[in-house]
Amino acid sequence: MQTKQDENTLIWFTNNLRIHDNSALKKAIKNSNQTIAVYCFDPRQFETSTFGFKKTENYRAQFLIETITDLRQQLNTLNIPLFVYTEKPEHCIPALIKNQAISNIYLQQEWTDEAVFILNEVKKNCPQTISFIESYDQFLFHPEDIPFNTETLPKVFTVFRKQLEKQSSVRPLTHIDSQSTDLKTIENDTKIPTLEDLGLGQISRHPNTAFPFKGGETEALKRLHSYFFETKKLGVYKKTRNGLIGTEFSSKFSPWLANGSLSAKQIYYEVNRFEKEHFKNESTYWLLFELLWRDYFKYVSLKHGNQIFKLGGLLNKNYDWSQDSTKIKQWIDGKTEEPFVNANMLELKKTGWMSNRGRQNVASYFAKTLQLDWRIGASYFESLLIDYDVHSNYGNWMYVAGVGNDPRDRKFNVKLQAERYDTNGKYQRLWLQDTLF
Ligand code: FAD
Repeated sequence: MQTKQDENTLIWFTNNLRIHDNSALKKAIKNSNQTIAVYCFDPRQFETSTFGFKKTENYRAQFLIETITDLRQQLNTLNIPLFVYTEKPEHCIPALIKNQAISNIYLQQEWTDEAVFILNEVKKNCPQTISFIESYDQFLFHPEDIPFNTETLPKVFTVFRKQLEKQSSVRPLTHIDSQSTDLKTIENDTKIPTLEDLGLGQISRHPNTAFPFKGGETEALKRLHSYFFETKKLGVYKKTRNGLIGTEFSSKFSPWLANGSLSAKQIYYEVNRFEKEHFKNESTYWLLFELLWRDYFKYVSLKHGNQIFKLGGLLNKNYDWSQDSTKIKQWIDGKTEEPFVNANMLELKKTGWMSNRGRQNVASYFAKTLQLDWRIGASYFESLLIDYDVHSNYGNWMYVAGVGNDPRDRKFNVKLQAERYDTNGKYQRLWLQDTLF
């Protein structure tokens, strides 16, 4: 129910940590006298998962802290206080809505089990009079605008892509009005936690990191502008995207996209602007092509639900998987027989980042060569990656492990891949210098 002029509304931020192109925020402001905001650092996100890894390690946690710090500043410009808790949402949100006389809660619509469970817990603890208004805001192509329903989602990416490109269009960006400035001041002494508060160790930025950027919408928009309009690297993206070293071989948008401090639509409209102001080529198209992969994995998870976390994946394949802890540890520590795998695994461990080419190789080596239970590799990625995104991570892992959407069951030849993408061994030397070279 979206009534005009509810007394106070709450926007509950989850993975939509931006003020631009945010439809939940727009609706919350439009339908209220006063909007307040909340973000919860849910302690469950920092616990140890089934396979023994912290669900969130310190690189992503630091990125998130920076993101929330920026979000609070952005919201201040709209006169919206951001309450930040290091508590379970089902504990702090009901108390907040009582204290602030909230009538409606606006949030991004999610569908994976964890998110649905938490929302239901919050609902249970709130009065029944509270409405929860959810909007999908994480897609490039909105689920209401696609030419099929989730049940008839094409099994193969190319079919999905072609249908969308022909028959759908991207919605315009959402613009928001700022709140009136003569609202009463709301006291807010809530604090953004530190890594220590979250039970995590400090990090120091590695001099060789390919991702030296900070979290938050402000940084995301800076990067978008720089990659497209300052360095114009967008114009050569297709040629450089398989690179391994440095900031410019690919866009590096994924960490901001993953927590929603940047939207896929914002990127889309900036690509369009670039094409009008400068030129259009294979590269400008290819960045949008990759964003369609991102959408595809979201639709796959919408359709298949928990199947994406199952060993047999979408295909119910029954391979003989091992859980050999020595091999798993060697992979994690960069001590396998393959220097290219090792270099990538060390980069991940020391920075929270790995290129797409690296991810494909280490995942294929884990699942196809070592024949280890792919969910353990995925869980390690979930822990470490700055850009962890449930749909892209599990979707890509299933794909590489041969239980997802790839009609071909492929195994990467890591040696050939290293020769092709790291011909002179520069990347391997960068990360293995202490051990091998
Ligand atoms: P660019 O090459 O600049 O691409 C632009 C954007 O397109 C990316 O930011 C991303 O949103 C999207 N994109 C590109 N490739 C893919 C892809 N294969 N699948 C889905 N979206 C894509 N991506 C994540 O965002 N989070 C993850 O947790 C994640 N886990 C992965 C696990 C494995 C095993 C593999 C093989 C890939 C995974 N990816 C994941 C996809 C991909 O590696 C990253 O999105 C990409 O490396 C991010 O770098 P970039 O932003 O510079 O990408």
